[in-house]
Parts: sequence; structure tokens; C-alpha cells
Amino acid sequence: MNLVNKAINTENLPDKNGYFGEYGGAYLPPELEKVMKDVEKAYEEISSDPSFISELKELNEHYTGRPSPVYHAKRLSKAAGGAEIYLKREDLNHTGAHKINHCLGEALLAKRMGKKKIIAETGAGQHGVALATAAALLGLDCDIYMGAIDVKKEAPNVSRMKVLGARVVSVESGTKTLKDAVDAAFAAYLADPVTQIYCIGSVVGPHPFPAMVRDFQSIIGIEAREQMLSYAGSLPDAVVACVGGGSNAMGIFSAFLDDKATALYGVEPAGKGLETGMHAATISKGTVGILHGFKSLVLQDKDGEPLPVYSIASGLDYPGVGPQHSYLHSIGRVNYRTATDREAVEAFYALSRMEGIIPALESSHAVAYAVKLAREIGKGKNILVNLSGRGDKDIDFVMEHYPLTEYEPGEEDKDGGYEEFLRHIGGEKN
Ligand SMILES: *Cc1c(COP(=O)(O)O)cnc(C)c1O
Repeated sequence: MNLVNKAINTENLPDKNGYFGEYGGAYLPPELEKVMKDVEKAYEEISSDPSFISELKELNEHYTGRPSPVYHAKRLSKAAGGAEIYLKREDLNHTGAHKINHCLGEALLAKRMGKKKIIAETGAGQHGVALATAAALLGLDCDIYMGAIDVKKEAPNVSRMKVLGARVVSVESGTKTLKDAVDAAFAAYLADPVTQIYCIGSVVGPHPFPAMVRDFQSIIGIEAREQMLSYAGSLPDAVVACVGGGSNAMGIFSAFLDDKATALYGVEPAGKGLETGMHAATISKGTVGILHGFKSLVLQDKDGEPLPVYSIASGLDYPGVGPQHSYLHSIGRVNYRTATDREAVEAFYALSRMEGIIPALESSHAVAYAVKLAREIGKGKNILVNLSGRGDKDIDFVMEHYPLTEYEPGEEDKDGGYEEFLRHIGGEKN
């Protein structure tokens, strides 16, 4: 049926109605029901077409630069003082993150379906830039809907999208942020579902998007599993990935679902602390609801309205989560944990100083949790972290709000003891 996922684990979900257990499905206005059915049918056909698979493979290899390496972070592991930490380097992809994996797949599908234009919403602009890149590459028009407030805040990404030839539509309604951008993009899609297609930016939305985006991202796990076997000599004892909507996490988890000895950890943003309400830890704190056309865990109020969410990492700032994550949580196959803003910043500096790798603040949540886990499970074990993106986009913000002086090692650490870089993680000073 679908591109790669069937071949790499036995879970075989979603079912034909798009459900992962009780989660997923398609909750849509009648006008969009048929449109989604058409996308589903096209995806089933096209994704098993050998010429589609080989075209995507060529782009993955020669355009994105796949396979991305797995790297043993020796200095970070030593500082954490327990298990060995390995990084799957999605930050080295063209455009600097994992998002290009599904954007290329979606754009290629759009082209095969004869669409002229791809449209999407974007919050901080990361999905918009990746999709604008794919549109430029494949000669498709591209409209990106973005809340007016985000347009102002994220000026560099707005410029990138424009340079790449996309039209950035500033949404002036409601709170002028992501939720209103989603509504505006859906409205635009409804107005013309024939020449356009909506490309969702994570494993969320109505069926078939959670399955489709996962399949395009599964390449991460397929590569990483082989790389761990040949480089570390064994499968990892644990795999750790940050969870916003959940695409980079599903991408790496998919290949390990049948490896029962490999523990899987999804890391949600605890923001300023779960007790403050300023977080976006949907699985840890959410309840079952319907958002943006699918059923999943949602951070919502008593009336089912999505709650305002917060994270230092704008890519993790979403009140829902992919339905497959809610399912994997419900059956206990994946453990969902959290990292605070401060822990993420510390991991950001630690990885930069110890390994010369500046991680995205999103990915820093996974690194922070991996450090904690390394101490817990101890020496002789291996942890694989999905380093979903690079942090160049975050450096000005971090330098301004979390001055470096707080993170410098003290005199007593100058002899190669790196522990001081990691003093906040799991510690008293959060
Ligand atoms: C967008 C983004 C994320 C969060 O999205 P997921 O769908 O949860 O993967 C994580 N890391 C980076 C670098 C991102 O750009």
C-alpha cells in the first residue's frame, strides 16, 4: 500500500479509515471529504510506483544529501557520564532539518497528480521554507499562509520563501498566528482543490497525511538502524526524538517498532515548567479531542477549544500531536517525557561547545533528555538521538535571552571535566 513503512515494521497501521487504534481518522466538512479521498487514492497508487520511488530516491541522495551520517558524540557522552550518545545528523540535510524529507515527497506527489500549486501554513516559517524549496526545485507555484504576527517575527524566513519564489500570504484574522494560518490555508484549499494541494507540515491532519508524512520521514530510521549496526555494532538500547507534531520522531521510530529491546522516547517541550501551564506537552498533559481534522490527544479547555501553548522552540509549539504518537503512548510502546526550555538551552550550548554542532532548539530537547537518560541507564549502553535540525536560526535569540556567562564552565572544570555544562539538566536549577 504505502511507500516504505510496510516493509520496515509489522504494525501495519493506520487501518483503511486512517485510524491508529482510536486515534486519527478524517473529521472534515463534506466538501473536503472527497478531496481527501482523492489524495489518499493518488498516494496509494503513486507511492507504489517504482518510477516515483526512484525519483524520490534520486532527490534524497543527490539533492538533500542522504544518507545523513550517524555520529558518535564522544565528548558529550563522557560529560554525561553514562551511556554512549549517537546523533542522527538530520541537521546536515539541505535546508538544515528533516522537513525537506516530507516536503520533497509531498511536492513530487503533487506534481504527479497534475497539481499546479502547493499550499501550506507555517508558524515560524520552517515548513514554509522547506516547501518553497521543493516547489522551486519541481517548478510548482507555492502559497504559504502565515499569521501576520509571525510574518513580522520571522522576517528572515519570510525573505527566504520570497527569494525561493513562494507567495507569502499574511493572515490578518483572529490571533494572527498559526491557528488562523491553518484556517486560511484550508479555506483557500476548499476554494480550489483541483489545481492546488495542501501539503501538511507534520504527521498531523486528516488521513492520509499522518501516514504519508511518516512514510516520507521513515528514511531516517531505515538509514539509522543500519548505521548503528555497522558503526556501533549493535542496535541502540534507546532512541530519543523531540515531538512537536511528531514527524521527525515517527521518522526515526518507525524502523525500530519491532525491535522490542530498543526503548523509544519522545520528548515534549515542558517550556517554563509543566506546572506553569506554559508548555506544549500534549501527550503528557492532553485529553482526547479533535483538532484540524483528526482525533488525538489535544491540549484543550472544557469546551474543546485548543489551549494557548508555549515553547522556546517554535517548531514544538502545537496543541495537538500526530495520532500515531497518541496510539503508541496508549499501548506503551513509546515513552513520552519532557524537557524544559532551560534544559534545552543547556543542551544547545553543551553540544555546540563539546562537539562543534549547533543544534536547533527543537532538537536540543532530545539532546537534553538523552543526557539524563544516559546517566540513568549507565555505561555500556547506546542511545541514538535524532538531531532533527541545525540551530543557526536560533543563535541570536539564545544569545540575547540566555547569556553565555551562565553556561561557562567554572575554574574547577577547565581540566577536561565537562560536567559543568550540563549542571541544569535534571538538576535543581531549572
Ligand atoms: C519543525 C521542526 C520540529 C518539529 O516537528 P516534528 O513534526 O515534531 O518533527 C523539530 N525539529 C526541527 C528542527 C524542526 O524544524
